[in-house]
Amino acid sequence: MTFPPLREELRGIEPYGAPQLPIDQAPVQLNVNENPYGPSAVVVADIATAVAHAATTLNRYPDREFTELRTALAAYLSTDTGAGDPPIAPEQVWAANGSNEVMLQLLQAFGGPGRTAVSFAPTYSMYPEYARDTSTRWVTGHRETDFSLDLDAARALVTAERPSVVLLPSPNNPTGTALPPAAVTALCEAVGDDGVVVVDEAYGEFRREGVPSALELLPTHRNLVVTRTMSKAFAGAGLRLGYLAADPAICDAIRVVRLPYHLSAVTQAAARAALRHAPELLGRVDDLRVERDATVAWLREQRLEVADSDANFVLFGTFADRHAVWQDLLDQGVLIRETGPDGWLRVSVGTADEMTSFQEALTRTLKELT
Ligand SMILES: *Cc1c(COP(=O)(O)O)cnc(C)c1O
Repeated sequence: MTFPPLREELRGIEPYGAPQLPIDQAPVQLNVNENPYGPSAVVVADIATAVAHAATTLNRYPDREFTELRTALAAYLSTDTGAGDPPIAPEQVWAANGSNEVMLQLLQAFGGPGRTAVSFAPTYSMYPEYARDTSTRWVTGHRETDFSLDLDAARALVTAERPSVVLLPSPNNPTGTALPPAAVTALCEAVGDDGVVVVDEAYGEFRREGVPSALELLPTHRNLVVTRTMSKAFAGAGLRLGYLAADPAICDAIRVVRLPYHLSAVTQAAARAALRHAPELLGRVDDLRVERDATVAWLREQRLEVADSDANFVLFGTFADRHAVWQDLLDQGVLIRETGPDGWLRVSVGTADEMTSFQEALTRTLKELT
């Protein structure tokens, strides 16, 4: 037996994560889809006051049901449901330390040995890891060459595999593509009461005008789960707060697998303070969408292939040696992400200055390498 006595299927596996490079080595960091705008002094002060207050009770366990935070998240989500839809109620909301933890809990509750999780590639690279870690069988269907879903093939896959969890990132990472409501509806109907359909809207707030959120479909599908995060649009990646909206019975089921007191008093206080400043923290989303659309247009002018994006990143290519392009950009201080289908690269949308640096660096790279 080799030491440490790791599970067979985990041996030799590298932990997931993009390279984290110090800022002097890569001054322009466009690799993990963070919001480039930090909180203002007013928001920082309010979070600090809230955390200081929480610190006075740190000898006690936090509110296990995080009732006030759930109420604040429900109120925030209710601003994004369709006109005429009922507001999202606190008992429809669940939260954890990042939406990654929310999705792991979904797999712990609804996946497991003898059960199957399905997604459609290219898809978020963490999903197969949740499946592996919960001993859930992992099956991927495919997307079309424009990264949309072939609905007939998707329905056929669900009918053949009978998954208990379907994971649909929309807007998708790494492609940026949003799913039309008809696709979500078709999959919710195909899965039925035998499973849950998780629409991962980590980038939901960045979607283009006229693209609806799957939140609008909650009243019609009790097996639908919509996940969100404070990491991206909300400029709170360091906060570690992800959440979902679903039928209250789904939230109740997750309570069975969550660790007791999984959300610390500090996290709950900081997240509630941040939510009080939602308009300010989300205030740069419109700027980032404009910068995103400009980046898509500029890359197309360079005669590159570019996926339509409803997110705060852009997938572009294709390169015979994408690693060489990635490395040459990094040599110029611009860190992007080597991810997605062969030959493609992904750039996060930063400030206007950062995008200018990216464009200048890529112009030099394209001249040198192609
Ligand atoms: C970034 C991202 C998340 C969010 O992760 P957190 O754990 O909330 O920081 C979730 N899903 C996708 C597809 C992402 O790209």
